[in-house]
Amino acid sequence: MNGKCPKCNNIVTKLQGHTVNIVSPNGTWVGATFSCPHCSAVLGAGIDPIALKDAVVSETSAPLVAEIQNLQAAVQHLASQLARR
Ligand SMILES: [Zn+2]
Repeated sequence: MNGKCPKCNNIVTKLQGHTVNIVSPNGTWVGATFSCPHCSAVLGAGIDPIALKDAVVSETSAPLVAEIQNLQAAVQHLASQLARR
C-alpha cells in the first residue's frame, strides 16, 4: 500500500530526488531531498547515498593506490638490478 502526500493527498509511488548542500558547523555535505512528484513538497531529506559512496571509495582507495605505486617502483628497481647481472 502506497502512502499519500500529506500536502496534496495524492498517492506517492515514487519520489523526486534533488541534490542539496547540508551546512553544519562541522562542514558541508552533499545531501538529497525527496519530494512529492505531484506538488514538489519535500517529504524527506538525508545524506546523498551516491555522494557518500563516492567519498568512502575515494578515501579508502587513495592509500591502496599509493601502496601499489610503491610496490611497482620496488619491482622495477629489483628488475633493473637483476638486469645488470
Ligand atoms: Zn504532494
